[in-house]
Amino acid sequence: MTEVLEKETFSFQTEVGQLLEIVASSLYSNREVFLRELVSNASDACDKLRYAALTDASLAPPEGFAITLSVDKKTLSISDNGIGMNHADLLDTLGTIAKSGTGAFIEALKAEEKDTPGLIGQFGVGFYSAFMVASTVGVLTRKAGEEDAWLWSSDGKGGFTIEPATRDTAGTTVTLHLKKDAKEFAEEARIRHIIKTYSEHISFPVKLGDDTLNAA
Ligand code: ADP
Repeated sequence: MTEVLEKETFSFQTEVGQLLEIVASSLYSNREVFLRELVSNASDACDKLRYAALTDASLAPPEGFAITLSVDKKTLSISDNGIGMNHADLLDTLGTIAKSGTGAFIEALKAEEKDTPGLIGQFGVGFYSAFMVASTVGVLTRKAGEEDAWLWSSDGKGGFTIEPATRDTAGTTVTLHLKKDAKEFAEEARIRHIIKTYSEHISFPVKLGDDTLNAA
């Protein structure tokens, strides 16, 4: 493998660019669903690693799987100790329409040209919904069984960068730098309520500080 030491810049697939324009300017009143989407991705990542650990037990995190949220004034982070992503995974998934639901969303949008909020709710736009509340998004990630870590970053306008980074253990941390009108998502009480509403059923503990917010 050739070692990539510098920050690289990539453009979004045309359709992702279109999607992000809509998502970022959306006045969708239910935009709190971004957290459901990111927690769901974190849970999927833990599931994938749990499965991989059936054949290689050394991959499982000794502390047990968990999804950990943290906030400060202007940021919200969603961290998991799941499967993580390598450089190729990042290129394959974050910047393309990896999800069939997202492709369907764009088709529906083209057909209807109206009721964007309804469509966002109906299809769910997955990872990209982060840009409803964040002006920039960072994804620090390391794939289980691999040594290299990467930082993917984007302001959702046209493209993203990937650079080498450091992460002690496998997993992914998504950091949202919240938009001025979205600072409420850095409030612990708001986070607790959203998790209770949308993510209670998640089978891994969803933690905020020392508290577990769901029933897991
Ligand atoms: P979906 O989750 O429906 O596939 P998303 O747009 O939410 O669609 O995510 C796209 C892909 O990015 C996922 O399928 C997964 O491969 C990758 N991904 C997103 N978040 C994470 C995460 N926390 N850990 C590992 N992979 C992730």
